[in-house]
Amino acid sequence: MRVPVWVVSALVLLLMLSSGARAAGDEPMLTPLVAEIIAPPYVVPGSDGKRHMVYELALTNITSGDVRFEKLAVVDPDSGKVLAVLGPDELAQRVTPGASRGKETRVLSAYQFAVIFLHIPLPEGMAAPARITHEITARLAVIDAEVTMTLGDSTVVSTPPVVLGAPLRGKGYAAGDGCCDSIRHVRALLAIDGKFHLAQRFAIDWEQIDETNTLVAGDTKIPANYHIYGKPILAVADGTVVATRNDLQDQVPGALPENLPLDEADGNFVVLDIGSGHFVNYAHMRPGSVKVKLGDKVRRGEQLGEVGNTGNSQAPHLHLHVMDGVSPLASNGLPYVFDSFTIPAVDEAGTEDFDKAEATGSPLTLTPRVPPRTLENVLPLDLSIVDWPQ
Ligand SMILES: [Zn+2]
Repeated sequence: MRVPVWVVSALVLLLMLSSGARAAGDEPMLTPLVAEIIAPPYVVPGSDGKRHMVYELALTNITSGDVRFEKLAVVDPDSGKVLAVLGPDELAQRVTPGASRGKETRVLSAYQFAVIFLHIPLPEGMAAPARITHEITARLAVIDAEVTMTLGDSTVVSTPPVVLGAPLRGKGYAAGDGCCDSIRHVRALLAIDGKFHLAQRFAIDWEQIDETNTLVAGDTKIPANYHIYGKPILAVADGTVVATRNDLQDQVPGALPENLPLDEADGNFVVLDIGSGHFVNYAHMRPGSVKVKLGDKVRRGEQLGEVGNTGNSQAPHLHLHVMDGVSPLASNGLPYVFDSFTIPAVDEAGTEDFDKAEATGSPLTLTPRVPPRTLENVLPLDLSIVDWPQ
């Protein structure tokens, strides 16, 4: 009698899994999932007073049946402490088949690949771990059973995030699509030249409110009607200009441009090499406004250009992120903090509220921070309103 291959595989798997905990001496074991961390996480101090780890766990289902994720625990393997536990509902928002943002589900089909986009706020008072691993509980269709596997070991980067000065001048800047649970930047995992890159992991799209809390007044199709349009963009640190362009025209606000070539995504832009393997990308600058050229040395606070709406942009804003290489897309996104700023309010109504304000001119729904909080050496989190020091 011929036994189908999948039955043999399932039986082998069942035997491996039913043999219980990992054998003494860490002998090799077959596993139904293969896991890899895209880039080791940093510990990032946020404007909420907490420390955050933001990273991605890539998983491949190597079985011939569905894998349904039930639980994921992030564990410090050295202390055995559990840093976070994600249940079915949260996994359904974070397991992303094919790394295709917006297609989240907690079921991986046979032989399918997914990325779990993770945001782990560290428990207060707990020392930052030197390493992490993941205990994943999933139901495997091939054996019709639930199993728990330990996968995805990684070191945690012990270097603190780079400290930056203000990228803009004045008050009322809204930190759009920021860390850590908005998805447009944090999940912008791109396959470029055969490798995954998440350059925008900690990117912020800066816009500006006026005294009525609107982002735009008048016709929303006119770039200059957005309050941030034309505002000076500043060097956040001493550095050298290692990439730039200045020849693109503004897009009409309201929609992202179609069929934009990849090399026009950042519009008019500047990349600054600020040393220690850190590069700062400033994107979507106003046509003709870039004041620096390739090879120029700039000082912190020096003007680089003005905010515009060039490239892959649907409303004037400054896209800013820090990365580990010159390419704004084909590099790894690094965290950063600003040395001083004040948060007078936060848009707790979320991205939808921000998008509506950008598209229609409605005011942001802001929750004031009373008194306004002046913060040092932290990352402004998503939808914070930021006043820069005078
Ligand atoms: Zn952006």
